[in-house]
Amino acid sequence: MTSFGPPDPPPDETSAPRCSARGCHHDAAWKLLWNNPKLHTPDRRKVWLACAEHRDQLAAFLEARSFLRDVLPMTPDDAAK
Ligand SMILES: [Zn+2]
Repeated sequence: MTSFGPPDPPPDETSAPRCSARGCHHDAAWKLLWNNPKLHTPDRRKVWLACAEHRDQLAAFLEARSFLRDVLPMTPDDAAK
């Protein structure tokens, strides 16, 4: 046990990726890849995770700011991480 530094993250019982929408705790089903040209180099990709319910809402938010680059389904490989 360490006495300094950031606390350990809380244990994730399922280790399943979660939707990024505020207050949503559903498992993520989609990855929204985005880039803010004012902050990021053009090849940089930030990732939001979204459940099926919030995918359109989050995508619309990013698209309205011209940040949205790609929307991809989660793969079993992603879920395993
Ligand atoms: Zn959600």
